Amino acid sequence: MLSFPPLLLNGYRDFMAGRYSDESDRYRKLAEHGQKPHTLVVACCDSRSAPETIFNAGPGELFVVRNVGNMVPPYEPDGQYHSTSAALEFAVQSLKVRDIIVMGHGRCGGIAAALDPDAEPLSAGDFIGKWMGLIRPAAEQIQGNSHMTPTERQTALERVSIRNSIANLRSFPWIEILEQQDKLHIHGAWFDIANGELWTMNSQTNDFVRLED
Ligand SMILES: [Zn+2]
Repeated sequence: MLSFPPLLLNGYRDFMAGRYSDESDRYRKLAEHGQKPHTLVVACCDSRSAPETIFNAGPGELFVVRNVGNMVPPYEPDGQYHSTSAALEFAVQSLKVRDIIVMGHGRCGGIAAALDPDAEPLSAGDFIGKWMGLIRPAAEQIQGNSHMTPTERQTALERVSIRNSIANLRSFPWIEILEQQDKLHIHGAWFDIANGELWTMNSQTNDFVRLED
């Protein structure tokens, strides 16, 4: 019989002996009373950009939806399968989170692929090419800018993509209404995996500013 990956088994045992044991009261209360996370985070699937790790969050704090490129699609109630929109609906309508954070990150493979039409495998496949099409118009504009270096283009699209997702968030009628009522706050963030810097988006200027240590 195929064995479960040993690295994960060891990790699980360490978790049970360490963190679960330390926070057993908290887990028990969360099991009894249900979750009440204060924040929804939309993050990339990238294995280096886990929001719970970056924000040092415990169980029950963050409701996290991760997808390739940390993108929010526009509001399209068309009967298709929309996993990110379903997670948004549940977090906002049922859990009533107070904050939504769209968090991008440096060296994002999805963004790199969007800037390189020949990139494999992200431009091919049955699903990813269509998904990354969400930022194709922005990618095409940045791609054509010969005054920027490839690194500058990559960072630019990572940040433009966050703004694009925030604009799409506001296309969901219940998000727009709650934001206008000041019951829901939307934020952008960008994490540099190389040095751990977190840049947050200024809500007035939309500029990304590095958070001081
Ligand atoms: Zn990524």
